[in-house]
Amino acid sequence: MVTVKRILVIYTGGTFGMLKNEKGVLVPQKDIEHRVIRKLPQLHDNEYWKQNLHGTDMEEYVALPDGKDTDIKVLYKIYEYDELKDSSDFNNDDWLKMARDIKRFYHDYDGFVVLHGTDTTAYGASVLSYMLETVGKTVVLTGAQVPIFQPRSDGNNNLFCALLVAATLHIPEVTVFFGAKLFRGTRVKKVSNTRIQAFDSPNFPALLEARTTLDIEPKMLIHPAGSVPDVCQIHDQLSHKVYVLKVAPTITPEIIRAVFNGMDGVLLETYGNGNIPIKRKEIYKEIERAVKNKVLVVNVTQCINGTVLGKAIYETGLLLVECGVVPAFDMTAEAALAKLSYVLTKTELSYEQKVELMKTNIRGELNNPNHN
Ligand code: ASP
Repeated sequence: MVTVKRILVIYTGGTFGMLKNEKGVLVPQKDIEHRVIRKLPQLHDNEYWKQNLHGTDMEEYVALPDGKDTDIKVLYKIYEYDELKDSSDFNNDDWLKMARDIKRFYHDYDGFVVLHGTDTTAYGASVLSYMLETVGKTVVLTGAQVPIFQPRSDGNNNLFCALLVAATLHIPEVTVFFGAKLFRGTRVKKVSNTRIQAFDSPNFPALLEARTTLDIEPKMLIHPAGSVPDVCQIHDQLSHKVYVLKVAPTITPEIIRAVFNGMDGVLLETYGNGNIPIKRKEIYKEIERAVKNKVLVVNVTQCINGTVLGKAIYETGLLLVECGVVPAFDMTAEAALAKLSYVLTKTELSYEQKVELMKTNIRGELNNPNHN
């Protein structure tokens, strides 16, 4: 008995579907479904389509060829956005649209794949993780380092595996499949612009590694099997008044003032365990003033791997703790920024409750040793 699984692929742009324009630079292309995907035997079983879908109300579906899992037939529909973008052009509004689309089509499909440019996949996966407050189906972001138009594209395998994950594994959260691994959306980082393994999650293991089969250990899931209702609830709002300020040796009070101006939340990317220069007191004073004015300031490390705890280890980290800057623990900068956008629009919460929420693990994004 073959079970048919229907997956919606939301094509938003990115290298996956790019070709060079007349200036020799890559730009997203329209209609990759007919120009490429339906012509690739790895991504479309035309014989199956002709025999089973052509002339029916299912003919818009693309048929994934069977692998070993012949008891599941994966059919997918490509929903191409009118305006395809390099993901460097994305802002919170683009991810709001994606979240709304997942909600809109939630009951028509068994899972969702988002084709997304790699530059901001880590931001997008984090933002979507927060916006989808309840999601009972698997959501996978993927893309490519080499366009699908080229023979060496990694897009074929990424899309194929993302579709299989969405159709055959029940992982009710936002994830990223890339290279050979599936990552938690709030833990992933782009670590290379040349390697085929473009992503990693330095503070948390990959949810799964593709081997001859795709399997996930139940202990890797945020929610135990069967505990999430099959509904999609979204938090339909994000603050735009958040930004990230990287501490560097040439920082000045003017720079801090300029970045903090008009912001409700700022992510401070600090040295090491959460340290800043303290000999120039005006630098710290600017940050302290912002916290007093109820700007939510979060301290995240610049290190690829590690944590900023709620207590200082060095004198250079103490002042931030004392004035109420919130530790990000082992969150990525991308997840911390997304979480700020989300938490700041929880209008029912007081400032203190927002601070507490920032320190609480809500989407598998952090390990706060004080809460264990
Ligand atoms: N600039 C591209 C984008 O983010 C890079 C990629 O997709 O790999 O859209």
